[in-house]
Amino acid sequence: MLESGKNVKKENIIINIDRSTNNFNYYGEKVLKNTENKLLEERLQLKKKYEKCFKVISPFQKYPIPIFLNHKPKIVGWCLIYEDEKGLGTEGIVTNKKVKRRISQGRLKGFSITGIAKITQCSICNSKFTECNHIPGKVYNNKECVNKVIEADFVEASIVKEPVNPQCLINMEL
Ligand SMILES: [Zn+2]
Repeated sequence: MLESGKNVKKENIIINIDRSTNNFNYYGEKVLKNTENKLLEERLQLKKKYEKCFKVISPFQKYPIPIFLNHKPKIVGWCLIYEDEKGLGTEGIVTNKKVKRRISQGRLKGFSITGIAKITQCSICNSKFTECNHIPGKVYNNKECVNKVIEADFVEASIVKEPVNPQCLINMEL
């Protein structure tokens, strides 16, 4: 709390930051203090649901990887992820009718692939990104620093409303 009033000297003002509101759950929602156990339980449940999804075998031989909606463990389609000279690409089939409709209406248009970076490289000094002090987005000697992912482990693929990468859009053939 900030005390108000003209008699309060500057050095006497104490800003009390309430850290209880600084916790966020997996979906970015605020959580209250002392909910760590609940949070942990939620995470375990989520993990279990994902594990269940990954045990489902695709009905399409060509598309073995499940597609989720908004990074939540519910399968809405199947895809194949490949890499070519343009980067990562994907093709697949959306099996969920509601999701299909929302894509055709332009309400869902992005695709997002989650991976865990195993090897990354700094574009300035070429060392492992975790081992140097360069900051991505900053310019050093007219060269912008980029954190390049050399190798990553695939985690999941999702259809999303707004992709982090604006170039990652869905093309639907009806
Ligand atoms: Zn560096």
